[in-house]
Amino acid sequence: MDELFGLSRFLLTLLIFVPIERLFAARPQKFFRRGLLTDMAFQFLNGWLIILGVIAIVTMAIVVNQSILPSVVKQAIDGLPYLVQVVLVILIGDFGVYWTHRILHAVPAMWHIHAVHHAVEELDWLAAVHQHPLDVVFMKAGSLFPLFALGFSSEAIGTYILVYYWQAYLVHANVRLNYGPLRYFLVSPEFHHWHHSSEMEARDKNFAGMFSFYDLLFGSVYLPKGQKPKTFGVDHPMPSGYLALLAHPFLEWKSRQRRGDPSGRTGNTGSPSI
Ligand SMILES: [Zn+2]
Ligand SMILES: [Zn+2]
Repeated sequence: MDELFGLSRFLLTLLIFVPIERLFAARPQKFFRRGLLTDMAFQFLNGWLIILGVIAIVTMAIVVNQSILPSVVKQAIDGLPYLVQVVLVILIGDFGVYWTHRILHAVPAMWHIHAVHHAVEELDWLAAVHQHPLDVVFMKAGSLFPLFALGFSSEAIGTYILVYYWQAYLVHANVRLNYGPLRYFLVSPEFHHWHHSSEMEARDKNFAGMFSFYDLLFGSVYLPKGQKPKTFGVDHPMPSGYLALLAHPFLEWKSRQRRGDPSGRTGNTGSPSI
């Protein structure tokens, strides 16, 4: 039962990040902050909804692998050593995360799903789980589908999933950590905190999950030296309860349909970014 809810893994994550945030806090913030109970609901209830989407994504990817992928590609990937596979898997997976994330910001209908993640105003490690289940499923489709379709080993993909798990909590954590000369190579908490900033210049920037060089490469990086974001969140009202947040995109889609407005985004920027 414990494993079903991921309780022991959650307790380990809590035992690591709560002391780190006390010791190296970027901003003064209490553990019992606003929205903590909602985030607990996301932590323990979202998985049941996400798992169905992940099963569908992996099944479709395996069908593609077995029916479309040329056998020469399969053999080439099969012959790669584990460590080379892990590096390729993380590079390809994060390329998928970058573009899926950018689309979630740029397409008005998708933004209503992703706005749930950006509704957090007091950022800390647990904000990592404050995501609509459809948002997680889209991100997994962008990252896991190509990996399973290309036929990388389950060990290499499993390593990526584990690294991504810890990276997601770390980049949201309320810690002062900027990675110095590696800041344009790896995604740091400083880098992702700017992604959550509600300040105008920082909006729709820093989409990568692991490698900040993707943002550098595709012209979406924002990392001013010696500065910190002052405020987080979005500039339009968002609900605060778990069920209300789950219903949020559906209600937005319905109200836009009623207004006969297929494209108007009431999002972070007020207009699509790309
Ligand atoms: Zn985002
Ligand atoms: Zn985030």
